[in-house]
Amino acid sequence: MDFTLSEEQKMIQKTVRDFVNKELKPLEQEVLKNEREGRHGISSEKVKELQTKARDIGFWGINTPEEYGGANLGPIMSVLIAMELGRTFVPFSFGGSADNILYECNEEQKEEYLIPLINGERRSCFALTEPGAGSDARNIKMKAEKDGDHWVLNGEKVFITGGNEADFAMVFAVTDKEKGANGGVTCFLVDREMGWKSEYIHTMGEWGPATLVFENVRVPEKNILGELGHGFSLGMKWIGQGRYMIPARAIGSAERLLQMAIDYSQTRVTFGKPISERQAIQWMIADSAVEIEAAKWIVFRAAWMAENGMDARHQSSMAKLNGGLMANQVVDRVMQIHGGMGYTKELPIERWYRELRLYRIFEGTDEIQRRTIARNLLKGHAKVGELL
Ligand SMILES: Cc1cc2nc3c(=O)[nH]c(=O)nc-3n(C[C@H](O)[C@H](O)[C@H](O)COP(=O)(O)OP(=O)(O)OC[C@H]3O[C@@H](n4cnc5c(N)ncnc54)[C@H](O)[C@@H]3O)c2cc1C
Repeated sequence: MDFTLSEEQKMIQKTVRDFVNKELKPLEQEVLKNEREGRHGISSEKVKELQTKARDIGFWGINTPEEYGGANLGPIMSVLIAMELGRTFVPFSFGGSADNILYECNEEQKEEYLIPLINGERRSCFALTEPGAGSDARNIKMKAEKDGDHWVLNGEKVFITGGNEADFAMVFAVTDKEKGANGGVTCFLVDREMGWKSEYIHTMGEWGPATLVFENVRVPEKNILGELGHGFSLGMKWIGQGRYMIPARAIGSAERLLQMAIDYSQTRVTFGKPISERQAIQWMIADSAVEIEAAKWIVFRAAWMAENGMDARHQSSMAKLNGGLMANQVVDRVMQIHGGMGYTKELPIERWYRELRLYRIFEGTDEIQRRTIARNLLKGHAKVGELL
């Protein structure tokens, strides 16, 4: 067994860490100020400027195939990069990427959606969740009815990340009520100009998802992504990737937070001694370090399985469940170690606290991950103590 990274992986890790230190961390105070005043943390122009800088040092299209100008680095590199980007709360990701399911586009759709998205000329959102169907995504009700060479969409989507900014949505709707998720859900590519409306949802963190409302939105037949009735599996494919990418990001955040706690504990003096000398504080530091380390290796294993063409769903559910819980434990302890200061908006801990709480909810709640893991074990799809 070899736990070392290759020279290339080490080089990429270091380059992204340098980029975060040099380009992103200096923006943190501005991000906090903007968000406090109700604006986006950083403007889309600034994001583009940073993405261009990153492109110059080779970070463009991390998971985009080379034929589309991407670097196609694969799952292991992607989690390494996500861990580094997670070390700041500046809302930034490298450019040149597209939603994984958009590679199902036909040639015409590629020109209209996939390629402009990769080039940063268009913005997408993934619209599956509805007011009556989140965890129970198989139960979506948005109706799509055939009318000549169009489909007419009616219904509502909620909590759609990027739904206010997107100019097209990947919308999952029921095209055959009898079949439902078993061949009766279809994914449509729906431009904003076709008539859907979005409304901002205020949340605890700075995520700012949207409600999307569809009232008789007419979508041409040619805008079906993949095949009619095959949408549900596309939805699951989109979600699947996040299950190791979300905890990867959480690991970077937890590491940075833990370092903040270590530094603070050595300077904060109470009853004549730095708090770092108190066992109560040391245990919080030690437990956090252990949990971060454990989370890292679950994430790496899930990514390694995905990279090697294995079915990584079980490991990814474990990575998501464990990573979300770990990050929430760590940020809570880090806040505790900082005492009253931890609770102020002068430090970014409370901002991270609010963001990380989401990691236990979206793209499959803790309970849904547990359900998946238990089912796999109970049905024998995964085994306890299986030979590696
Ligand atoms: C900020 C944010 C961004 C999001 N972005 C997107 C997006 O871009 N696109 C998108 O489609 N969706 C998005 N979502 C939706 C998200 O995926 C759902 O909120 C999530 O899947 C949970 O669904 P729900 O909110 O309907 O909760 P529910 O499914 O109603 O669950 C409520 C509670 O019951 C528990 N529960 C449910 N079923 C079971 C069960 N069988 N056993 C035990 N416990 C259960 C849940 O774990 C939870 O604790 C986003 C959500 C948020 C908050």
